[in-house]
Parts: sequence; C-alpha cells; structure tokens
Amino acid sequence: MRQTLLPDLVVDAHEARSGVGITVQCGRLAAVGPATAGERLPGRALAPGFVNDHSHAFQRGLRGAVERIEPSHPRDDFWTWRERMYALATELAPDSIREVSRRCYGEMLSAGYTGVTEFHYIHHRPDGTPYKDPNALAKAVALAAEDSGIRLLLLPVAYARGGLPRFQDPSAPAFLQRVDDLRGWSEGRPLVKVGVAAHSVRAVPRGWLQEIGSYARRDDLPLHIHADEQPREIEDCLAEYGLRPVELLAEAGFLGTHTTIIHATHADGKELDLLSQHGASVCACPTTEGNLGDGFLPAEEILKREIHLSIGSDSHVRVDPFEELREIETNARRLSGRRNVLVAENETAPTPWLLRAGWGHGGPKAGDLADLIEIDLTHPALADVEARNLPSALVFGAGSGVVAGTWVDGRKVYATGETDR
Ligand SMILES: [Zn+2]
Repeated sequence: MRQTLLPDLVVDAHEARSGVGITVQCGRLAAVGPATAGERLPGRALAPGFVNDHSHAFQRGLRGAVERIEPSHPRDDFWTWRERMYALATELAPDSIREVSRRCYGEMLSAGYTGVTEFHYIHHRPDGTPYKDPNALAKAVALAAEDSGIRLLLLPVAYARGGLPRFQDPSAPAFLQRVDDLRGWSEGRPLVKVGVAAHSVRAVPRGWLQEIGSYARRDDLPLHIHADEQPREIEDCLAEYGLRPVELLAEAGFLGTHTTIIHATHADGKELDLLSQHGASVCACPTTEGNLGDGFLPAEEILKREIHLSIGSDSHVRVDPFEELREIETNARRLSGRRNVLVAENETAPTPWLLRAGWGHGGPKAGDLADLIEIDLTHPALADVEARNLPSALVFGAGSGVVAGTWVDGRKVYATGETDR
C-alpha cells in the first residue's frame, strides 16, 4: 500500500518545511518532497522517530522505588543502586520479563522512540541453569517488542564473572552458540534484528572480548559494551591489565565501525582518540547517568573528534528523547559556562548535532525506514513557536507529551490517549 501523508510541517535537523508530503510504501519512505494530494494531518508536524540505543527494559520496574536512602546503605551511589537492580533481576521469569518489557516499549512509543536496542543480560534461571530453551528470556523480550510494535535490535550480552548466576554463560563459545541460535530464530521477524554485546570489561575478560569482537567483525554485527561509566571500573581495569577500558578494547580487537561504547563518561583523551581512529560510536544516557551519579558525558571532546553519538534511556528513570538531547547540551553549558556549546563545524546551533544523535540521521528522505512521529503543533509547549524555530523548540522546550502519534514500519502503532499498549 502506498500512502502520502501531508502534515503542516516536516521536520529535519535544520528546519521545518510546509507543503511537503511523505509517501510511505512497504515500510519505507518512497518520497519526501512537495505534495498537495494525500492524507492531511492538520495541526501536526512529522519528524523521524528517535532511536533508543540503550535499554534494559526490566529496570523500568525500579521507577520511583529507588529514590530514597535505605538504612543499610546510608551512602547511596551506583553500587548500592545496583544491589536493588539485582534484587529485581532475581525475580524475573519469561512471562514477567515479557510483560515489563512490553509496558516499557509501549512507553517508548508514546514518547517518540520508534526503535530500541535492548542490552539483554538476564539469560538463565535464577540459579544459573539454562531454561529448556536457553534463549527463553531473550525471546520473551523480542515478543514484547513485537507485541508493542517497536523496532528492536536485540543484543544478547556476554557475562563471564560477577553479577548474578543467571547472567553468566560458562564460556565464550557457549555464549556465541546461543547468539547463533537466536539469530536463526529471529529470521523472518521483520521488526527484530540480533547483534551481540559484552557487558563490560569488569564482567568480561580479555579472552572473551577477543572472541566476541572477532565474531561480530566476521558477521558485521552491531557490537556494544558499557565502558568508562564509573571511576572504580577504570581503576579495576588498570589494576588487572595496566590499561584503561577503551585501551583494552582496542587491544582485544573489539573496536570498529560497528562498535558502540555505552556511556564513555570518564573516557580520557587517549581513549576518545582510539574511538575516533576506529570509527566507533558512543551512546550517551544522560538521564540515567545523572540519576546514578555517574558524571558528565565528555560531549565537547566527542563532537570535536566527530565520534558518532546516539542516545539511550538505559534504566528508564525517564523515557523522553527530547530530555536526553537537552541534557547533553545543558550539561555542556554547565561545565563550560557558555551557551550553544555543541555546535558542529559549519553550523551555528547545537540542535542539528543533537537531533542527528537522536535519529541516527539528519532528517526524513526517500529510502529511509518508515519510522515517524507526529508532533502536536497545538500542544502548549509549542504554541507561538515559528516554524523555523521548531527543531530547537523540540530540543530545548518540549517533552515527550508533544508526541501525538508514532509510526513504525509504515504502520501507526501509537496515538495520543493510548497509554497501555
Ligand atoms: Zn546499561
């Protein structure tokens, strides 16, 4: 089916244009350009959907529950939060992980995310023995994405040591066999793709990193890992290897254009140089990093090196792509004492760089996936905003409440008022 949508405005990273139609066919954008005939969307702007590049859907279950001091931990920090998260992770079974994930993905769609990268590390029964189907929990997460209608990049995560027994696989080959099986299962599921990940240099030793890195390189798979989130992780890595986390990843052959480093909060200049040299990406999760007291993204250094950036809602303390983007620039302003800090070369505003981080590209064009959001131009947050200022108003003055509809693969999967999909 071929369908042309005619909103009041079409938004890209630089501007919002009127008189433009978006033609959708077979899950792709067939055309983006001047149009007069089609389905009118009065009071609406169309923009690309945001990509949530880092999620642990089950952690949505912690919302509001961890924002107080526990008597056993008078000094609360990342590590005490992690104890609470482990307690939640202990309880989950295939049905309950599917349910919490479905709700989380429904919230993402309502907030304007059309795709999610799920960093999935709860694999086995609580005592560590595999389920009858060793990928039962990963499949439950994939089914949750299909239930909700969101596009999913599912990353089974290697975990060799520490954490809970149910996170761990006995060896890298055993883990990669599960990844192979999951990839086979996902074929023919149009919304689901499978990549691969290692949890962190804390949880995965050098030998595993080498094997997983070469597996991802061989099959050109997306490859993710948490790195440089907390100072202690760096101290431990230096003590074990004499290298900082990204240095270890470079040495282990883990870095390439298909690699994404989650957080990089405490990455130093040399580590960022390595990411740049290898064409690797960084995924920032500002609302979670703020909530956990991790620190600030070295955003200016990332921009300067032209390292590709994406965003993730990670622990889902907040699910709002506009807020993630705003936090990146606002933190950069707080740190530098300046305004309009994250301005890419040949540009005059931070908005285009931030929106490219949120969308993965600069605006809708023919050939793209038909993953779109409808923006309510009558929303109080956008009243009296001139069309030319709309992209910046979205980043600096709006929240997920302006999203009136969400399209994935050319299908409308969320409309305002439908909160429990
Ligand atoms: Zn994470």
